[in-house]
Amino acid sequence: MSSLLGLLDPITGTRDKLLETLIAWSDINSGSGNIEGVEKIATLATGRFSELGYDVQRIETEPVAMIGPDGQEGTIQRGPILHFTARPNATRRIMLAGHLDTVFPVNDSFQKAVIRKDGTLHGPGTADMKGGLLVMAQALACFEQSGLADDIGIDVVLNSDEEVASYASSPYMEKVAAHCDAGFVFEPSMPDGSLAGARAGSGNYDVVVTGRAAHAGREFDKGRNAIAGAARVVGALNALNGQRDAVTLNIGLIAGGTALNVVPERAIVRLNVRARTPDDLAWVDSAIRETITSGDFGADITAQLHGRIHRPAKPMTPQLESLFETVRSAGGDLGVPVRWAATGGCCDGNNLARAGLPTVDTMGVRGAFIHSHDEYAVIDSFEERTRLTALSLLKLASGEAVWPKDIAS
Ligand SMILES: [Zn+2]
Repeated sequence: MSSLLGLLDPITGTRDKLLETLIAWSDINSGSGNIEGVEKIATLATGRFSELGYDVQRIETEPVAMIGPDGQEGTIQRGPILHFTARPNATRRIMLAGHLDTVFPVNDSFQKAVIRKDGTLHGPGTADMKGGLLVMAQALACFEQSGLADDIGIDVVLNSDEEVASYASSPYMEKVAAHCDAGFVFEPSMPDGSLAGARAGSGNYDVVVTGRAAHAGREFDKGRNAIAGAARVVGALNALNGQRDAVTLNIGLIAGGTALNVVPERAIVRLNVRARTPDDLAWVDSAIRETITSGDFGADITAQLHGRIHRPAKPMTPQLESLFETVRSAGGDLGVPVRWAATGGCCDGNNLARAGLPTVDTMGVRGAFIHSHDEYAVIDSFEERTRLTALSLLKLASGEAVWPKDIAS
């Protein structure tokens, strides 16, 4: 049993305050595209993390390229990055990361948090991941009071575009990650407390299909139907499914056309790919490129490809395994079983891993049905997950656990 357990006393009794704050945060819409709402959460998070005495930096993100609904290349502005730092000169550093945004747009019908009789808090972002942000802050408050934090640098980085692939924030996050020794991200754990182990990598692609507009009655023959071309693109891309084990392509969105009496000039096909290894990701990326550049999608119809792999696969490495063992041993001391399993999901943990940072990325509250109107967080997990994080930090700081980067990679 760890002698550090006594240091967790400040966490006892924090549940109700966390619940109250989480309800208030969940009631503020912060869909990635709702910059005003994201800013409100950024302000609240700045207040919460400033209470820890950390230095605050706000980083404005650069606009990122995107293909608009009209098929034209444009840019979109995302919200800020918040970076809270303690002890900037410490040689051992822990990075704790999270996101301020949710998947629910400002006009979504899912806007309010409600406590349910079964001990859950049902609401947007309760599990993914406003609950996790508050767990992170509470665990750090405990860590700062422990007397063991003096030699450990802390980098808390919160972004505003995780739910839209972190294009605007990942270069900054990876730069911070490269200087840290252990990483924790506060995505929700499963309802039974299981964590995500190895993660698949992911890529998003847009194919803009261009034909020629014409009157559907007077000059149908002069038209070149972009939707018919898009259908051929869909068929060709979808045929890549099943060609390689555990590599999947999901045609997620198709749009095109203007009116029923117009031969459509433009259509867009948007897709997401998942694969578990760097080789598989490289294969699917080049297969998509080859399919689009060499495909025949109809006379006078062109298809232009945009997009890339944006989250690399996150394999289980000896260093990552070591950090998981630290969390498991903290769980053992707390009577909280900690297991992990590989997943097809991905998150900023993938990008931090690319920067060489061993990262356990499901340290947030227990919860389920994220990205849906049934999303909930388990209220009893608030203190439990706060203790799990705090004890994991204390084990690293005290030398009771080995630093993952001290393990041969
Ligand atoms: Zn999330």
